[in-house]
Amino acid sequence: MPRGSHYGRIRKRPYTVEYHRLSAIVFKPLLQAKLGRYTITLDHLSEQHKNFELIETAKKIKVAKFHIKSQTLHIALIQDDCSASNKLYITCPCCQSKRQHLYAVKNAYACRECLGLHYATQAERPRDRLMRKIRNKRKKLWGNDWPEVLNMFALSHYWAKPKGIHWKTFYKAKEEIYHLERKYWPMVEIHLNKQFGHLKI
Ligand SMILES: [Zn+2]
Repeated sequence: MPRGSHYGRIRKRPYTVEYHRLSAIVFKPLLQAKLGRYTITLDHLSEQHKNFELIETAKKIKVAKFHIKSQTLHIALIQDDCSASNKLYITCPCCQSKRQHLYAVKNAYACRECLGLHYATQAERPRDRLMRKIRNKRKKLWGNDWPEVLNMFALSHYWAKPKGIHWKTFYKAKEEIYHLERKYWPMVEIHLNKQFGHLKI
């Protein structure tokens, strides 16, 4: 194979599900707890990912201090007092952003962005691509100002023929859009089911 050729190379995308996730909720009881050593009782974590010391900063912010592979990692517990739920966030030891989840990697905890992970839902991108395609073809046929041109809930099948276009051309273009819309809808349904489960209304 010639040098630099990408033929046959398998690109592996890491998905977040392959990593062990640590949720902020795990730390919630610690907001009222005494300072000292604690162990997270999650079997899949390594000993070093489980054990930490609860400390407090000068500003009374609780911090979980981990030692993983001779690194010291600080995960601050930040409670959002503005929301009624008093949601708890944990900070990413790498970028300090407030997170709901961190991921255990070999020698650290880090947020999704820092790990450069992709959510499995990004596999749903074909759906967005198809949506864009449908919208563009609609705009080309009916024009940008057509009332429902961007509305994906409206089927274009009964939309009227614009002036200045031959019926034959119109039918051909419309038929093509119609097929794309029929392909689009099952994808949306799958997506909604994944997000919300099978809703019974
Ligand atoms: Zn981060």
